[in-house]
Parts: sequence; C-alpha cells; structure tokens
Amino acid sequence: MRSVQRSEETGSPSLNLPSPIQTFSFENHTFYLKRDDLIHSDFSGNKARKFHYFLTHDFPHVDTLVSYGSAQSNAMYSLSVLAKMKGWNFEYYVDHIADYLKANPNGNYKAAIENNTVFKVKSEELRVKSENVLFIEEGGRQKEAEYGIRLLAKEIIEWQKDHSIEELNIFLPSGTGTTALYLQKTLCDEDVVGGQHPTVYTCACVGGSDYLNKQFYMLEADENYHPTILSLPKKHHFGKLYRENYEIWLKLQQQTGVVFDLLYDPLGWRTLLAHRELLCKPLLYIHQGGLLGNESMLLRYKRKFPLITVNG
Ligand SMILES: *Cc1c(COP(=O)(O)O)cnc(C)c1O
Repeated sequence: MRSVQRSEETGSPSLNLPSPIQTFSFENHTFYLKRDDLIHSDFSGNKARKFHYFLTHDFPHVDTLVSYGSAQSNAMYSLSVLAKMKGWNFEYYVDHIADYLKANPNGNYKAAIENNTVFKVKSEELRVKSENVLFIEEGGRQKEAEYGIRLLAKEIIEWQKDHSIEELNIFLPSGTGTTALYLQKTLCDEDVVGGQHPTVYTCACVGGSDYLNKQFYMLEADENYHPTILSLPKKHHFGKLYRENYEIWLKLQQQTGVVFDLLYDPLGWRTLLAHRELLCKPLLYIHQGGLLGNESMLLRYKRKFPLITVNG
C-alpha cells in the first residue's frame, strides 16, 4: 500500500511547492521545464493543481467523494489519493471495465483499488445530491480547479521576475483543457513587468481543436482569456498507439533524462516541434505528471513495436 506523506506540524500533506523549473535541451532547442510531476509522489502533476482547492479546504459534511470516467484515468487515481488524505470514501463510476483489466489490474486502476476505490457501473444512479457527497466532474473540469492553477501562474510569474525573462511562451498539451484555460486566465490577472503576459499554447489530445474550443467556452466566456490552440495536419485519436508518439517519447527520455507521460506529452512535443517559431522566445513546458498511467501504455507499446529502441 502507498502511504501518504504528511508534514508533522500542520497535519496537512506536504506538497513540493513551488515545483522546480529546470533547463533542458531537446532536438537542439533549449527549453525550461516546470516539474509539476515532482509535486508529490502520489498526488502530482496537473491533478494536484486541479484538486488543490479540495485538499486545502474543509468539508465538514462530506464523507464520500464521487466522480466518473475511464478505468485507467489519471484523475481517478489522484482522486483516490485525495480521498485517502481526507479520510473519505471514494466511489467511481465507469461505463465498463474490461475483463482483461479486472483479471490483471495494473497502472492507475490497480493503484486506485489499493486506495479502496469502489467501482460502480454507470447504470447505477450517480449519488450526487446528498449533503455528504462531494461530486467531481470527469477529469476535474470545474471552477474549483482555478484555485490551484492560479498558484501555478503565480509561481511562473515569480520565476520569470527572478530570471528577468521578459517574454515567455508556455506550452502544455490538453485533455479537457481546464489546466491550459485557467493558466492563461490567471496569468492575465497577474501584474507583470513590462505589461506583457505569457502566452499559453496548447493542443487537443482528446477530440479535436473544435472540441477543445467548446471546453474553453464552457469554463470561460471571455475569449481574451483563452489559450492558443495549435494542431498537426493529421487527426489524432486519444489512447491509440502511434509509432511517432512512442519514438518521440523515447527520444525525450534519452535527450533530457526526464520521463514524460505517454498519453499527452508525445502529441504535445510533436505539435511543438511542428511550430518551432514558439521556441524563438524562452519556452516553458509544463510537465503535468501522469506517470503511473504509463505502465499500461508502455506494456501495449512494447507489445506492438517490440523492435523500436532508442537510436538517437
Ligand atoms: C489530466 C492530464 C492532462 C490533461 O489535463 P486537462 O486539464 O484535462 O487539459 C494532461 N497531461 C497529463 C499527464 C494529465 O494527467
């Protein structure tokens, strides 16, 4: 069983904040990397940001956390950790769980079970209305996410000031787009030297750019707060295996020594390298964690492309 880190004095879990920003080089481009993957061994990445509000506030009437989505989702695992930290039950609704996964639990699914997640199939009614239940949207797409992402924006602005970086591009790949949207929005709210706010660029890993744009509008009507969406010419299907994704993931690891996530980051980096003009200014890439989910993806990749290895 995983144990949860707690700081002695406060009794609250200790998060490694502000997360470090390091310099790396990839394909002869230097970039900065915001290591949100290092926030906490179990509660890391953008889910720690999105769920920060729930972690740091008291919910005296709540004893049960409820959410829904896929059986291997990063958000599900992070919520199981949040529930454990808070001493809540965690009920998670899925459309279905593959027989293979049930028989051979791995990755996020296995870790969520170890955290006592109760899985329910969606036909059972979602218990969202009672006072003791805290309901969280799939992937944490909700207003409360802004709270933790504002702290991310403040960390970035502080760092920018300390390093006298005047113009900054930021890139992060999107699922629901919640992180990118609130990051651009809260950066716009900050006072910055010279008055120029960092520009947030992203790409759609789930659905396409139209879907992502709709997600932005659901959270924020003012277009001035929206990130800029970049895309590749070919359509990409979430969770599908692509040779190019596996190759760039291996290359990233070889050239930087950092393990990136296998679902979002490969498309993120392919999109970024197809828009190299972004790298003419200082560029900050946000590492959004998700490494536990790599376990199941890596098994699938190794089975599909057994001959691919790193060759520089
Ligand atoms: C959840 C997740 C995302 C997507 O975040 P959104 O806020 O839904 O856009 C991206 N990368 C990783 C590693 C994630 O776990």
